[in-house]
Formats: sequence, structure tokens, C-alpha cells
Amino acid sequence: MNNYHTHTYRCMHAFGSDEEYVKAAIKAGIKELGFSDHTPWPYDNFKSHMRMEENQLTEYIESLVYLKDKYSNKICIKIGLECEYFPDYIPWLKETYEKNKLDFLILGIHFYPTDQNVKYMHAKPMDENTFNNYLLACIKGMETGMFEYLAHPDLFLRFVPKMDKKYQDASIKIIKKAKSLDLPLEYNLNSLYYKSNGFHNPSDEFWKLVADYNAPTIIGFDAHSPQFLTERELYINSKKYLKNLGIKPLKKLELKS
Ligand SMILES: [Zn+2]
Ligand SMILES: [Zn+2]
Repeated sequence: MNNYHTHTYRCMHAFGSDEEYVKAAIKAGIKELGFSDHTPWPYDNFKSHMRMEENQLTEYIESLVYLKDKYSNKICIKIGLECEYFPDYIPWLKETYEKNKLDFLILGIHFYPTDQNVKYMHAKPMDENTFNNYLLACIKGMETGMFEYLAHPDLFLRFVPKMDKKYQDASIKIIKKAKSLDLPLEYNLNSLYYKSNGFHNPSDEFWKLVADYNAPTIIGFDAHSPQFLTERELYINSKKYLKNLGIKPLKKLELKS
């Protein structure tokens, strides 16, 4: 079992120390653990409440490098970030990725085209504009070639109990793009865990389409607590669920570093 979607306390809505995540992952039998906390962005004059600040990035990386070394005989740690597609900041992200020799980036669309005084997209049913932005950000983000996979692609279906044609077409566009780029779509366990709260993602309809188009898939915990990494049942049941649909999730990302 591997997982590339792990947050840290720095995003202010995840809990536990970095080391506790590593220990929990080892306990759970995870062989490769990717940290992908919410990326900072180079704002001029804005403070986000759901991500680290730009000046925390070095410490985040140093802490993980230390743990990577300390636990190298028990687990393989990869250092990454979860990023939105913010067009104006893509050059900064590219530079940050290269300068810090990060192992990987994942794409997760929460805001567009920035989060400076822009509302979180998934707090309530989407209006037309938000819907269009979500679709655009997924497609354009995947097309950059910078990301290893698309996290929670079906998050836009959170408040959609049954897809109409508009949602179906958007789903197919995302899935076809992922397929053509050979970029995995993430079956998100954190969403699954909270699905009972009246949310509709992961969406059965969406994942049936993923199976129809035979698009690459990966399971991600999206852990916001160390404890969550030990939810082995959730992982195993999801694997079975996907298998029943005819989807064989990718076990491991082939990272350059
Ligand atoms: Zn996310
Ligand atoms: Zn996440």
C-alpha cells in the first residue's frame, strides 16, 4: 500500500506532527508515503487560512527530509505539494518545484483563478460560473504536465445526487483528458469517509465513467490526521469497489526522483 496524499498541521486544518504521520504509515504497512500539503502561493498582501505561508516551505521540506532519512529503512518518503491551477502563479510553482527539488506535485482544484478573496468552490452547490471554472482548471491544470495526478476529480459532484447531461459531459471531458495524458484520477478516501454527511462524492456515476473510458486511477487517503492513514479497511474496500467496476488502481507512482 502506498499513499501520496498526506497533509500536515501547516495547512491549519490537519493535525499531528510530521513524525506521527510517518509512524502511522509504517504501522499501517504503507511502503511509500508522499506528503502533499497545500502549497503556499506568493501573495502580495493576503493570508490564506488553509495553507502554509510561503516562508514555511523551507521548514516543511527540511522536516520531511529529516524524517525521510531517519526512517529510510522502514518507509520511502516523497516530498510534494497539493496545488490548484492558478494561471498567474504557475511560473512561481515551476520554479519552486525545481529549486527545492520536490519529488512530485498533485493537482487539486479548490479555488480558481486564485484564492485571494475568492470563495472555496465546494462549500455549496455550484453556480454556473464556478462549474465552468472547475472544469477549466482541471483541464488546464492537467495540460501543464506538472502534476502526477488529479486529486478528487469528482469533488464538483459533492452536491449532485444524480448527474444531468451537463455534469456527465464535464465528467467525460475530465476523464478523457486524464486518459489521453495517462494521468491518474484519484479515488479520494477522505471524501469517502465523509460521504455520509449528505455529500455525493466519490460519485458512483463518475467512477463508472472512469471504468468505461479505462482511465488511470489511484487511491489517495488525503490524510488530515496520522490516524487516518491506519484506515486500512477503507483502502481495501475501495480497491474492491473499483475492481468490481473493472478498475485496477495504480499501486505506485513512477516519480523521477
Ligand atoms: Zn484537496
Ligand atoms: Zn488534500
